[in-house]
Amino acid sequence: MQIRKLALLLAAGVVIAAYFAFDLGRYLNLQTLKEQQAAISAFHADQPLLAGAVYFVIYVVTTALSLPGAVLLTLAGGAVFGLFWGTVIVSFASTLGATLAFLMARFLLRDWVQKRFGQRLAPIDAGVRREGPFYLFTLRLVPVFPFFLINLLLGLTAMKARTFYWVSQVGMLAGTVVYVNAGTQLGKLESLSGILSPALLGSFALLGVFPLIARKIVEVVHMNKIFANWKKPARFDRNIVVIGGGSAGLVTAYIGAAVKAKVTLVEKHKLGGDCLNTGCVPSKALIRSAKLLSQMARSKEFGIDSARADFDFAAVMERVQSVIKAVEPHDSAERYTGLGVDVVQGSATIVSPWEVKIALEDGSTQHLTTRSIVIATGARPFVPPIPGIEQVGYLTSDNVWDLRELPQRLVVLGGGPIGCELTQAFARFGAQVSQVEMGPRILSREDPEVSELVAERFRAEGVAVLVNHRAKAFVIEGGEKILIAELDGKDVRIPFDAVLVAVGRAANLTGFGLEELGVSTGKTVETNEFLQTSFPNIYAAGDVAGPFQFTHTAAHQAWYAAVNALFDPLKKFKADYSVIPWATFIEPEVARVGLNELEAREKGIPCEVTTYGIDDLDRAIADSEAHGFIKVLTVPGKDKILGVTLVGEHAGDLIAEYVLAMKQGIGLNKILGTIHIYPTLAEANKYVAGNWKKAHAPEKLLAWVERFHAWRRG
Ligand SMILES: Cc1cc2nc3c(=O)[nH]c(=O)nc-3n(C[C@H](O)[C@H](O)[C@H](O)COP(=O)(O)OP(=O)(O)OC[C@H]3O[C@@H](n4cnc5c(N)ncnc54)[C@H](O)[C@@H]3O)c2cc1C
Repeated sequence: MQIRKLALLLAAGVVIAAYFAFDLGRYLNLQTLKEQQAAISAFHADQPLLAGAVYFVIYVVTTALSLPGAVLLTLAGGAVFGLFWGTVIVSFASTLGATLAFLMARFLLRDWVQKRFGQRLAPIDAGVRREGPFYLFTLRLVPVFPFFLINLLLGLTAMKARTFYWVSQVGMLAGTVVYVNAGTQLGKLESLSGILSPALLGSFALLGVFPLIARKIVEVVHMNKIFANWKKPARFDRNIVVIGGGSAGLVTAYIGAAVKAKVTLVEKHKLGGDCLNTGCVPSKALIRSAKLLSQMARSKEFGIDSARADFDFAAVMERVQSVIKAVEPHDSAERYTGLGVDVVQGSATIVSPWEVKIALEDGSTQHLTTRSIVIATGARPFVPPIPGIEQVGYLTSDNVWDLRELPQRLVVLGGGPIGCELTQAFARFGAQVSQVEMGPRILSREDPEVSELVAERFRAEGVAVLVNHRAKAFVIEGGEKILIAELDGKDVRIPFDAVLVAVGRAANLTGFGLEELGVSTGKTVETNEFLQTSFPNIYAAGDVAGPFQFTHTAAHQAWYAAVNALFDPLKKFKADYSVIPWATFIEPEVARVGLNELEAREKGIPCEVTTYGIDDLDRAIADSEAHGFIKVLTVPGKDKILGVTLVGEHAGDLIAEYVLAMKQGIGLNKILGTIHIYPTLAEANKYVAGNWKKAHAPEKLLAWVERFHAWRRG
């Protein structure tokens, strides 16, 4: 087997090497074709069969070995053999050549690729088995990848050679006719003035519009295929039905109503979703109370001998609820009804691409037909199946807000943003918190020095930051709850009173019709860049769509989902993820926009790093908050910001200047040239820009300027 592979590789290698060594490509250009046209035509007239056979073989070899020149050969086919025979020969030769290339790739590489990337290739193979013929047909009709690449890559998948052959032949036929036709016109070209002949112009115009027509055909075939099993209602009750009244759903409904569409928003639990009820709002309210305690504990740093804080944890948690109540009207049914949205309290199920069934609170059911649906069902805390977890009972971000008694010993599972925010808050209220993280550091998406700074602060505040600890099991021994975690192969026992699970959030994908309908899902609902799901009139936004899980990204996506749902096919917009900021609201606060060093390295993006230490900033010193830093990544040698990490007091607010700069293409020079109020934390943004400027000072020019000043002094 190995020898046969080697022999094939050698033979193909020799031909390819000969092609380049003897510069055979020089024969495959328009000029040579024109120069030799008379001789080729004479040969064809003399021996049509032989000419056809020679041309066929050259075509097959060229495509089988993925040599350049197939387009020119196709044009030549038209010029020499005319439209009918040219199309017949090219169609068979190109399909045969493509299939040989496909088989060669399979024979030489598939085993190796399977061995190395088998697992990763499995979903692609499954997709190819399910959708392969249609996908190949699409690629043949609208070749977004080069012809040779399609042949080689599909050879590495599970597609049958027979399927590859016939789909290629059918899929390439229309394109072949268009190119061969252009070739017939080129063949007739006698002089330069002929370039302007209507026939030649027409055939080239056809070349230009063909991809557009092909794309349309693919779209129509695709739509018919997707909606084949469903009967489309003759008319619709609504323009959009939005499922889920969290950040994504509310904004979608708002935009729909603002542009006078008929929109129904269905919420089964509480309007405002996670952000208002169990996420951003309660966590920030809790963090605020905790911060006050922390500042009082630091009273000596501010010149105040002692400050006593008596507090009742239950009252703090009641305040959290009162903050939710205060914000609630912004997300209320009354407000949205006033804006023109039909707000329905109930549980929605998608029953067809255009129908939603709503189980209402009174037990009745409402059926709505709709042109589009936006899925905004959010996510829920992911609870890992650790043995014993159900027996010990656990808290998540869903129910931690019901606590009225502070747990003495709290284990927080997870070192991500939510885990960190709650760890610090609970520690500040006096709980003995052990933060257990499986990875080597907390906040692992950020650069290592950020994790280090945060972990250092947490430890200083009494938190046991236990990294590299893998939670293995929960047990109850003698009435005491214990987490058994593994550190370097050894068991570590962590006794606790309550455990808070914050190891990630899982999208809400089940129980409302997605599986029954066949909407494609992975960890989230799969969407394209227009936020369309596998059903083009069903969109998804927010946590259920990913890839970010923030309120502001949910709202950002909601705009695209609403506008595309309402105006496609007239106009649709690709969701723009180029400048996404976020913050973790701990102390020191951590904010980021764009790339950090870690990601730049992983993605192989060269960057220049400029830093500024906030410990040097007047206002931070005056506030006794002299800690943290700004790190700006720029394109080497250019004033273009790639990303910013900000660590320190009010980092989440300070980063806004960079978010604007990146979004609007503003560089550090412009930030440096902008007046920042003294003394503010925002001045740090200017100082880091100054550091960047200093590093780019034109030393040679400055040497001349120095001489100029010396000369002026006489
Ligand atoms: C503790 C915590 C702190 C956070 N802090 C921040 C922060 O500071 N900043 C930030 O940007 N983000 C933060 N987030 C994330 C933020 O809360 C989410 O990204 C945001 O809420 C996502 O909004 P969404 O609309 O996608 O989903 P959700 O807010 O979850 O809304 C989905 C809604 O859909 C409803 N629903 C589901 N299925 C159905 C159905 N079949 N029929 C009807 N209704 C249905 C649900 O009841 C829910 O109300 C935090 C999250 C947590 C948990």
